[in-house]
Amino acid sequence: MAVVQVIALGGVGEIGKNCSVVREGDDIVVIDCGLSFPNEEMLGIDIVVPDFTYLVENKDKVRGVFLTHAHEDHVGGLPYLLKQIDVPIYCTEFTQALIRSKLEERLPSKKVDIRVFKPGDILQAGALSVEPVRVTHSIPENCAMAVRTSHGIVFFTGDFKFDFTPVDGKLANITRIGELGREGVLVLLSDSTNVERPGWGPSERAVSAGLRKVFGESKGRVLLTTFASNIHRMQQVYEIAAETGRKVAVVGRRMESNLDVCERLGYVKIPKGTRIRLDEMRMYPDEKLAILTTGSQGEPMSALVQMSKGEYGRLQVKPGDTLIYSARPIPGNEGAIWRTINRLFNQGCNVVYESATPIHVSGHAYQEELKMMINLTRPYYIAPVHGEPRHQFLYNSIAKDMGYPEHRIFTMKDGIPLNMDDTAASFGEKVPCGRVLVDNGGHAGVSDEVLRDRYNVANDGLVVVTIAVDTTEGQIVGDPIIQARGFHGPEGIIDVAFEHLVDALGALSKDELKDSTRVRQDAADVVRRLIQKRTQLRPLVLPTIVEV
Ligand SMILES: [Zn+2]
Ligand SMILES: [Zn+2]
Repeated sequence: MAVVQVIALGGVGEIGKNCSVVREGDDIVVIDCGLSFPNEEMLGIDIVVPDFTYLVENKDKVRGVFLTHAHEDHVGGLPYLLKQIDVPIYCTEFTQALIRSKLEERLPSKKVDIRVFKPGDILQAGALSVEPVRVTHSIPENCAMAVRTSHGIVFFTGDFKFDFTPVDGKLANITRIGELGREGVLVLLSDSTNVERPGWGPSERAVSAGLRKVFGESKGRVLLTTFASNIHRMQQVYEIAAETGRKVAVVGRRMESNLDVCERLGYVKIPKGTRIRLDEMRMYPDEKLAILTTGSQGEPMSALVQMSKGEYGRLQVKPGDTLIYSARPIPGNEGAIWRTINRLFNQGCNVVYESATPIHVSGHAYQEELKMMINLTRPYYIAPVHGEPRHQFLYNSIAKDMGYPEHRIFTMKDGIPLNMDDTAASFGEKVPCGRVLVDNGGHAGVSDEVLRDRYNVANDGLVVVTIAVDTTEGQIVGDPIIQARGFHGPEGIIDVAFEHLVDALGALSKDELKDSTRVRQDAADVVRRLIQKRTQLRPLVLPTIVEV
């Protein structure tokens, strides 16, 4: 029997761009295909997706991509994978409803093969099979994935929490998870995002009390921002609005379309007469109105951010309004979020972003829930995923506390296969793996060099060096010119650089001057080094050679 390999192409040692591979022999299944958001140094980058080279190289073996749920960090990389290979996508009806239009938008000429499953179905994938198991999270129809191999079950928890009062009443299938544990889980790949939080996370239902309080106390309009996919949160807003006699309007394209789809499919039940269009708001006094809005991550084009700047044509915030920030910042977005909140305060809007009664709860398991998952699945090996190294480290120490010996605990790294058979487990040779940067225009493959240049220009400016060279004679023609844009060094530094450059060019032989590449290189080096040494700045130095 071949070894079973689990390879993360993304999503370990980081939170985001989740994409894992299970391989046995000639069969590969892919669990999730997500994106991550750029950090503040990635200028002009819209999203980051995994490098799919490994899947492209093995495309004849890939039996399907199995989606745990519809969050972007689990599905957002799909258009970029499907551009490169044809592969069936397996997901729930809800996930399908959320991703289909986006896939059609991105891949207009492609017929995407989406196959809808229900939790509990057994999906054959070559010699492997995949069984989705319902678990609770901050989005409907979320599944763990049990991949059956000839050495036992590879169990991905996906994103999960154990919520015993979920808004849609659909509980995690703990019984089934226990049965799979008894059948034999070879390895547990567990969500570790909230491993730093002791105890047991509050139920999504706990938010109701917090929202009810703010809705009740607010004299004017109540605005609420959350993730556009947080259907259960929106469900609660509708219920509380109905209770407190408010009508709800929605702003933000993504939120509107998600609600439409979910209402049609029955995933959200809007109390009759509660939902109104934005233009119907003027028919009601402020204290009878609530507004759901996108923009919880401070996205520049979102309705909330534009409202905070007074630039949103369809709706303005005003004194007396209350905004409930019912979300948690994704790391990297904090600055944009605080700026938005501050602008809203400046406009007289009261922003509730922390409260004694919760107005947001996390969708990820706390420590005791993570332990319960270990206890239910009783895996032979343990490897935390969906976490940064600190989360993985802490999760591992919990596993040790629960009696797991060191040799059965693995800290996965992107691209490094965990090889397992009936007798042993160890890490193998790295497969092609990395990140692909997608720019604001949707073009994939922005290189690290481009990124570094952008970063240097943005921080320290641009210095352009122009030199005219007679390459047949091997002579400099006239004086070089140094121009700077966005660069601010000590006075006279450009003149000093000029003198150094003239000296350096003067030291080149006739033959060296005939080689324009050499001249370009030398000129850039001289100017860059001098500026760095004298100013500690790293502007982008751009040499241009004019051959005459
Ligand atoms: Zn999620
Ligand atoms: Zn996630």
